[in-house]
Parts: sequence; C-alpha cells; structure tokens
Amino acid sequence: MTTLTGSCRCGQVRVAVRGDPVRVGICHCTDCRQESGSAFTFFAVWPTSEFQSKGEPSEYAGRQFCPKCGSRLFSLSGEEVEIKLGILTDAPTPLKPTYELWIKRRETWLTPVEGAEQFDEDRL
Ligand SMILES: [Zn+2]
Ligand SMILES: [Zn+2]
Repeated sequence: MTTLTGSCRCGQVRVAVRGDPVRVGICHCTDCRQESGSAFTFFAVWPTSEFQSKGEPSEYAGRQFCPKCGSRLFSLSGEEVEIKLGILTDAPTPLKPTYELWIKRRETWLTPVEGAEQFDEDRL
C-alpha cells in the first residue's frame, strides 16, 4: 500500500497517510483563500485510521497549522482527516481533484479542472 508523507515548512510537524484518499478536491471559498493566502486550497480526505502525525500543531476553527512556520496542515473531523496537499514531500503529487467547491469565488483566469465535479458552494 502506498504511503504519502509530508511536513510543514520548518519540519516540526510531520504527517503520513496510507492508501488511496476517499476524495480529492479544490476549494475556492473565502475561508480557504484567507487561511492559505492564495487563490484556493488543494486537499484530499483519508479515513482517520490511515493517518499519523508527529509534532505539535496549533488549531484555529478546526484547522491545524504549525505555530512556528505557519504552514497549514490538516483538519480532523471524526472519521476523516483532510490534508492540505501542498505539504506533501513529493511534488507533483499523484493526486488529481475529483471535485471543486465554491467555484463562484474562483479567479476568472482559472479554468475548471477537466472531469472534476463542480459545486457553486459546498458539496451537497
Ligand atoms: Zn513548521
Ligand atoms: Zn474552502
């Protein structure tokens, strides 16, 4: 089974996930824009049972980040963990978005990801 690893910019927090994600997405919502300081976030969701982390992240609104370097890392919600894919060690990742959220906030110079399901706001 494949294991993907990742870390924050300074290396204080490290993560690993096993196997294929449940889903892979891009989100253009205001929360994601502000927390990333960028136009959208690129993330994937795994069962929490396939996730491990080391180090001490801080949390804001359910989202974990490194208190030292500020990298955004992951969000834990019960059975699932959402990982920000920019923290993975190897780029490009082998993962491609299967859906896009909040496309009404998408920058006008970005085009939809081919084959990805499009949602005006959150996933139904
Ligand atoms: Zn860090
Ligand atoms: Zn979002």
